[in-house]
Amino acid sequence: MTAFFSGFLGKAGRLLMAAATLGLVGLDIQSASASELAKDLFGGKKLPAATAPASYGFYSKGCFSGGVAIATDGPTWQAMRLSRNRRWGHPKMIALIEKLSREATRDGWPGLLVGDISQPRGGPMLTGHASHQIGLDADIWLTPMPDRRLSPTERENMSAVSVVNEKTHRVIEKRWTPAHTRLLERAASYPEVERILVNPGIKKKLCDTVTGDRSWLRKVRPFWGHDYHFHVRIGCQPGSQGCKEQDPTPRGDGCDKSLAWWFTEEPWRPATGPAKPRARDIMTMASLPKQCLAVLNAPSPVNEAAVTYHGKGGAPTAVVAAPEPEAVAPGKPVISQPGVPATANAFAPRPSGDIPLPRPRPTNN
Ligand SMILES: [Zn+2]
Repeated sequence: MTAFFSGFLGKAGRLLMAAATLGLVGLDIQSASASELAKDLFGGKKLPAATAPASYGFYSKGCFSGGVAIATDGPTWQAMRLSRNRRWGHPKMIALIEKLSREATRDGWPGLLVGDISQPRGGPMLTGHASHQIGLDADIWLTPMPDRRLSPTERENMSAVSVVNEKTHRVIEKRWTPAHTRLLERAASYPEVERILVNPGIKKKLCDTVTGDRSWLRKVRPFWGHDYHFHVRIGCQPGSQGCKEQDPTPRGDGCDKSLAWWFTEEPWRPATGPAKPRARDIMTMASLPKQCLAVLNAPSPVNEAAVTYHGKGGAPTAVVAAPEPEAVAPGKPVISQPGVPATANAFAPRPSGDIPLPRPRPTNN
């Protein structure tokens, strides 16, 4: 170590001690994490911040506290890509997905395959999405849920099927059904849903085929990707003063010039010039709302089961000091035991039989 460097460290050490005596150590921690990438800090969190539910910042630049997980399995849904640990959202978001999954079955959609929601405390993700940072976005597959439980391996590897031809940007007719339309209409029918993002080909299909009430089309917005899943976004929820509202969607059904633009060359032209880094790849804590540092440093709940949503319109589990669920012997199926909330309850209405029931993942944080 050079004399300069050790001298520098000595000085930093002395400053730290001075800061400690002044009660300023918190500031030192703040500056330390300010230089680290926010995606690494948030991406490393296994459990949510055990404080009241609140979203901070914007969908593409923020975080949230008081998150709850959707159970990996429910009577009318199965969560996909479990290893990503993105089953977390604001309790209102999770409640909404469960409601959609139940009500969609009345429209002939057998259940939802649930894609990414958010990381436990939101924030920028290690991979993928620009948004999904404040617990108010969720991806739902456009593939109907199969009538059997998928294994964890299938949930990792099952490929998602696009319903859009990537050359023509039109829906592939044999993959699109009236039930797809009804599913989107159902999702758009909820007042808390502000936007639904779909591929332009899907929007066009809706524009060309929906009859009767077309007012819900206003919420359905064309965007790149979103050809094997759609993206549901709800508005800022009560109790989230730090949540930044998005602009309202333009008036009308959106089946106009703005949609026609997607069927020109322009949106699909490869970018020219040097590639710019993605926002999520350079964001530090300093780029996020200041409350996100507290969210990052907040205590965790006792385990995942304690903060897995109960569903059926019930209140979400209290996040702090929740009781330990009863231990379940490894390999033993969990069937609706009182005192075991979380994943077990989600299965209760389903006939048990020989369906292998997944257990909550390990609970270390
Ligand atoms: Zn999405």
